[in-house]
Formats: sequence, C-alpha cells, structure tokens
Amino acid sequence: MNAALLIDASYFIAAFLFIYGLKRMSSPVTARSGIVVAGSGMVLAVLASFLYTLDVNPAAQPHLTTNISLAVIALVLGLGWAWRSGKKVAMTEMPQMVALYNGMGGGAAAAIAAIELIGYKTHGSISLTLAILGGVIGAVSLSGSLIAWAKLDGRISKTLRFSGLQAVNGSLLLILLALGAYMVSQGGAVAMTVFIAFFVVALIYGVMMTMPIGGADMPVVISLYNAFTGLAVGFEGYVLNNPALMIAGMVVGSAGSLLTLLMAKAMNRSVANVLFSNFGANGDEEQGEIAGSQKPVDAADAGINMRYASKVIIAPGYGLAVAQAQHKLYELVKLLQDAGVDVKFAIHPVAGRMPGHMNVLLAEAGVPYDIIFDMEDINAEFKEADVAIVIGANDTVNPAARSNKSSPIYGMPILNVDQAKQVYVVKRGQGKGYSGVENALFYADNTQMVYGDAQKVMVAMVQAIKSLGESH
Ligand code: NDP
Repeated sequence: MNAALLIDASYFIAAFLFIYGLKRMSSPVTARSGIVVAGSGMVLAVLASFLYTLDVNPAAQPHLTTNISLAVIALVLGLGWAWRSGKKVAMTEMPQMVALYNGMGGGAAAAIAAIELIGYKTHGSISLTLAILGGVIGAVSLSGSLIAWAKLDGRISKTLRFSGLQAVNGSLLLILLALGAYMVSQGGAVAMTVFIAFFVVALIYGVMMTMPIGGADMPVVISLYNAFTGLAVGFEGYVLNNPALMIAGMVVGSAGSLLTLLMAKAMNRSVANVLFSNFGANGDEEQGEIAGSQKPVDAADAGINMRYASKVIIAPGYGLAVAQAQHKLYELVKLLQDAGVDVKFAIHPVAGRMPGHMNVLLAEAGVPYDIIFDMEDINAEFKEADVAIVIGANDTVNPAARSNKSSPIYGMPILNVDQAKQVYVVKRGQGKGYSGVENALFYADNTQMVYGDAQKVMVAMVQAIKSLGESH
C-alpha cells in the first residue's frame, strides 16, 4: 500500500473517531468514553502525519532527520507538559486550562499560515485568502485567549476601557483587512515586513478585543475563541490539503459556535453584548438597597428539617466545586431518599465556572442522572418544593435577574429557588457571586443562611440526620 493511501485511510478513520467521540460527549453517561474515542482519533492523525516522511521530495530529503527530530522533541515536550498540567489541574481552574490550550491551537494555525505565506508556498487566490484568514483568526485567538487566561487566573484584573476604544479596534480591523487584501492582490509576493506587520497587528487586535471584556464574560469569550481556532485550523487544513485538519477544524468551529450561542442565551445576552458591553462593571451602586436581613440557621437544624420534608430541590453552584463537597452531598441525598424524601437537582446552564461543571461534579460523586434536571425542566417545580437548598450558588439564583432592571445580570434566566416554601443557602459568609452583585434572595423572608464551607455543612447535616435515626 502506498503512503498516500495509508495517510488518507488514517485521516478518514481519525475524522470518523472525532465525530463519533463528539457524539458520545453529548451525554454524561457516555462522555468519558467519547473523550477517549476522540483522543484516539487525534493520536492516529498525529501518527499518520509521520507517514508523509515516506514520500518527501528530493529537495527536502537532506532536512528530513532534523525535521523529524524537531517534531518529536516538540511532541514530547507538549505531551509531557499537557500530561502533567492535565493531571494536577483543579476542577475550578479548568476554564483557564481550556483558554490556554485553545490559544495554543490558534497559535498553531497562525504558525502554519506564517510558514505558508512567508515561504511563498501558497498560490491561487482562494488558498491565499484562506491562509490569510486562518492566520489572522488564529493570531487573534492566540493573543485573545492568553489575555482571557490571565484574566480568569487573576493575573490581570484591569478592564481596559477608554472613549475611543471602538474606533481604535475598528482601525486595527481595517488595517488587517487592507493588508490581507494587498497580499491577495499581489499573489502573496509581498515584502517580509508586510507579513510581519500583518501578524503583529492581528496579535494586538486580539489583545485589544479581549482587554475591555470583564472577567464574568470570559467563559463566553473563550468559547468564541474556541470557535475561531476551529475555523482557523479548518482554513489552514484547506491550504495544506489536509482533510483531517479540515474536519477537526470544522467540528471544533461549529461546536464552539453552538456553545457560545448557548452560553450567551443562558445569560440572556447577545454575543455582541458580551463583546462590547462592560458586564458587571457598574458594581453595586446601581442596584439599589436590599431590604431585610440575613437570618442564620444551624446546619443540623436545616438538615433535620429537610429529613421531614416531602420534596427537596438542590441548586448547586461554584462553591460546591470549591469545597469539593459533592461526595458528602450525595451521602446526604441518599439519607434523605431513604427517609422517603423526593430529592432532585436543579442545574443552571452557567452554574460553576464552565459549561457542564455541575453535571461533571455530580457524575464524579455517582449521583444518578435521573434525579438531575436542567433549569427549564425543573423551574416550574420549585413552588411545590418544601425546601430548596442552594449550595455555593449565587448569581444563578439571584431574583434581581428577574425584576431589577438596573442589575448587571438583569434578564439572565435563574433557578426559581425563591418560590420554594423554605430556602436554605449554604455559603461561607457575605461573599458575592461571580458578577459581584448582591443577592436579594439571602434577605428574603423564607430564606435562612447556613454559614460554613459546603463540605463541613454537608458533614454536619449528614451527622444530624444519622443521629436522628439512632435516637429512634
Ligand atoms: P457564583 O460564582 O455566583 O457564587 C458562588 C458562591 O459560592 C459565592 O457567593 C461564595 O460565597 C460561595 N462559596 C465559595 N466557596 C465556597 C465554599 N467553600 N463553601 C460554600 N460556599 C462557597 O456561583 P454560581 O454557580 O451561582 O454562578 C456562576 C457564575 O459564574 C455566573 O455569574 C456565571 O455567569 C459565571 N460563569 C459561569 C461559567 C460557566 O460556564 N458555568 C463560566 C464562568 C463564569 P462565600 O464567599 O460567601 O462563600
């Protein structure tokens, strides 16, 4: 069998594995195996790339050993770094990691474009246009993702805003378009300084586009850059005539676009609003005073009250992940179920710090999927619940989103926990949510606060319910 046929066959299988893996990722039951399937596709595609060495043109022969060695060194370094960082990353730092990997993907696409353009290897206006588009999108995605990573990681806290910002960004975009059009019109035969200027402006544009966006919107931005990276890789795949790159790029591009739209919808915002408005920047001053006071309750008392309820709905949030309280929580759920309580989980689409965050946590603890419900499927049930218990969630249960037009989260759909007869909120203290907004739920007449780390509170509730059983 000749090398070309072997490469094509491998890429075909790899593309099938990407798509089949993605399909399996759509349900928590099969997601883990989906990742393994898609990952195997990636390994196959990488290995297949080495088959090109069997059939290189004579001019490239003398460089073959050096080039293969460089590729192997890069692979080993990348693999080692990814393996190590993937193993030790905390669940709460996953968005940063996604941002970083995503930026690398964009950078790789930009690097391919640079090699193709600077080496004058791309001919024909379609290929040239796609190489240029892939280059600019990849470079924007690289620098933008790095800024997103730094913001999420707390390394940059500044939100750059000034009155002429849109004009500056608009001018940068025009410069990019002009340089790109010039390169295409010259058939790619332009001076090195033009290429350099083109990539430098693209990188600056990525920075300028991301710096004004507040931390709370970063996940949507990362998802958008993810879509960009996919698109860039797809374009470069066309330029290199590499079907695996094209298919992988398009899969990532469309999945990223859909995720971006879903996240924006869950926050009741348009993608343009995410990119161009300064979400959460107005702080508290515009939200008005909240009447009432926060009423503390003992974890044991709250636990015992739930034991005698007939229906309890749990609204988990970011704090559950921070406390790693999912295992203890499930222990509590089983105790309640043993006592005949109907227990359900209500999952807000942007609870936690990444899409699906809560589902992953609960799956890790072994919570059965049939008691986990999406927001739209459970919201109508809160008014029948005796108890709604909010564990480390804040923005996703803030009624201001429903009624307070001046609130930065106004319009975001929320879990209707406030409609339950009794609401317990488990959190450590007076800390605000991700958007920095105060929460009127904590002051409502039917709400009581269970102060403490979520894990410790779960332990106290479990003990209280168990001791109840012993004393009977
Ligand atoms: P929030 O981030 O709004 O609130 C989390 C709450 O948990 C805080 O008020 C904090 O209060 C409490 N908390 C923190 N640590 C602990 C702990 N150890 N034990 C108990 N409580 C703790 O959470 P939500 O999940 O409700 O909302 C998610 C927010 O994140 C939304 O604004 C969303 O837009 C945004 N976002 C969502 C992403 C996604 O894709 N899911 C990605 C990035 C952002 P205290 O300090 O008093 O304990």
